Amino acid sequence: MQVKAIHQFVEGFQRFQSKYFSGEETLYETLNIGQNPSTLLIGCCDSRVDPALLLDCDPGDIFVIRNVANLVPPCNEAGNQHGVSAAIQFAVEALEVQRIIVMGHEKCGGIRALMQGYKPRSKIDFIGPWMRIVEPVKQQVLQQMPSSSVAAQNRACELLAIALSLKNLTSFPWVAERVANGKLALHGWYFDMSEGALLAYSERSDGFLPMVCPLNVG
Ligand SMILES: [Zn+2]
Repeated sequence: MQVKAIHQFVEGFQRFQSKYFSGEETLYETLNIGQNPSTLLIGCCDSRVDPALLLDCDPGDIFVIRNVANLVPPCNEAGNQHGVSAAIQFAVEALEVQRIIVMGHEKCGGIRALMQGYKPRSKIDFIGPWMRIVEPVKQQVLQQMPSSSVAAQNRACELLAIALSLKNLTSFPWVAERVANGKLALHGWYFDMSEGALLAYSERSDGFLPMVCPLNVG
């Protein structure tokens, strides 16, 4: 696999520049005034799952939070440096987004760290405590499918973690209030990397259903 050299990123910016800053009435003339994204997307840091690329978005379309394993922590007033919660609050209260999409993905390294354990190379471990947000999901998977393959267990954990993050979103009062009065919708999506497909969480079936099927099907 070829890795990119830094000059390729600079050239990438030049292509972006010619796409969005050339000609008259560029998109950034509007975006300069302010942002008005319809959607908050919470995705994983993984380099293979850039939400703007996956959903073919233009600048200004989605407000994005990316963290290890696309987790939403429960609302917790203790402590004072909650980066994810601050971004959720800003998107919901200030930008008044209409929807929140939690987008997980297959073969997530964060979920693998939770399921199979991750030994940090230094004494300080930020990954373990962060992933404990979805520890109940790990226990549920190990109880319900103890003899399944590691890949199947991890996939189940990836899906259930999305559902738990959706539940945690409603622990923020400003989210719960807007969901209750129909001003905000919550969605759980899953990028199946090996199939190139997209699944969506269905509250009715409490499971994930195909939303965009693989290209080689049908
Ligand atoms: Zn991931």
